[in-house]
Amino acid sequence: MSGIYIHIPFCKQACSYCDFYFKTRQQLLQPFTDALENEILSFQNSSFTRSQISTIYIGGGTPSLLNERQLEQIFSALNKVFRLEPDEVTMELNPDDVTPGYLKMIRNFGVGRASMGVQSFQGEILEFMHRAHNRNEALFALEALQTTGFPTYTADLIYGNPGQTLSMLEQDIRQLLVFDPPHISAYSLTIEPKTRLGKQVQLGRIDPPGDVTVSEHSDLLYDLLEEAGMIQYEVSNYAKPGKEAVHNSNYWNHKNYLGFGPSAHSFWWDDEGTTAKRWQNRADLTGYIENEPKKIQTENEILDLHTLAEERLMLALRTKEGISLEELEQRYDFSFTENQLGYISGQIHKGTISRTKNRLKMTRQGLKISDFLLVDLLSRG
Ligand code: SF4
Repeated sequence: MSGIYIHIPFCKQACSYCDFYFKTRQQLLQPFTDALENEILSFQNSSFTRSQISTIYIGGGTPSLLNERQLEQIFSALNKVFRLEPDEVTMELNPDDVTPGYLKMIRNFGVGRASMGVQSFQGEILEFMHRAHNRNEALFALEALQTTGFPTYTADLIYGNPGQTLSMLEQDIRQLLVFDPPHISAYSLTIEPKTRLGKQVQLGRIDPPGDVTVSEHSDLLYDLLEEAGMIQYEVSNYAKPGKEAVHNSNYWNHKNYLGFGPSAHSFWWDDEGTTAKRWQNRADLTGYIENEPKKIQTENEILDLHTLAEERLMLALRTKEGISLEELEQRYDFSFTENQLGYISGQIHKGTISRTKNRLKMTRQGLKISDFLLVDLLSRG
């Protein structure tokens, strides 16, 4: 069982914090869709088509810029090439593109999970982010999900914004909870150096909030969402029981996936399960449109079991489930060094990691500083 990721590299405008690969020249959307169709068709009769496809994720960029004809092109190419038996088909939507008619149209293609880029309901925060939508459009889009009876969805929020007080964040969370969402992805604002925000921070024009403020934001989120019956099942993801994202969970579980479109990654185990390959399409829209699809792939990276074990450990320790030590040993032939075991014991004592006989996981406190703990743990390998 494998997944498919499709990257739609177009946006109406550049959000100030975003470092994903996208262009704003929407006149290239149709030539891009034609190239995407070719890329998908180029996998016909390849060994990848032996695997059943259990999840599809259309991300970007802004997939909701695609019209019905373009979605038809994409889904019919996928159907021609792959054995599609998906449990989950997700599409990212920006609130300013959403109407009940658009939701019904994507439903007809089998999209059953919407990922709505709300980010905030506050006008000044949305402006600071340079988002294309406003508060009313976010509310309208969430209402449309309800009135059309869309099967399931997730909404994105961003916290830790400069100037965002706890009470502003609380208003955002409570406003979102009015819709009783099955899933919420909540990200702490990251300052990426090459973005407009990154440059403003470098120039000293914007002062990002400190660690204590971000930690308070994260605690507020946790408390309010837990009160609403949502469980933090990964550092940035909360869901009602049974509504966890399958496609993303498969990434963390090292399941195979293929990525289509400029900048998309793919990951595939060899038949023996002793190494895996990772490759990426170049982030080059013009090259993607003009060249043979396979020409835009970068070199394969072959990952050995030890590298895969460390990666799996990093991904799994960011989840509520944590990692099974038996899995690490049997699937990855991995065990911790004495030095690492000493570090883990120290962290158990500090209350950031917990361990049962066969499972290691982060506590709530640990999840808040998981990136730091993981680097520390792996550097002792
Ligand atoms: S809409 Fe999404 S992908 Fe596009 S610029 Fe904004 S954050 Fe980035």
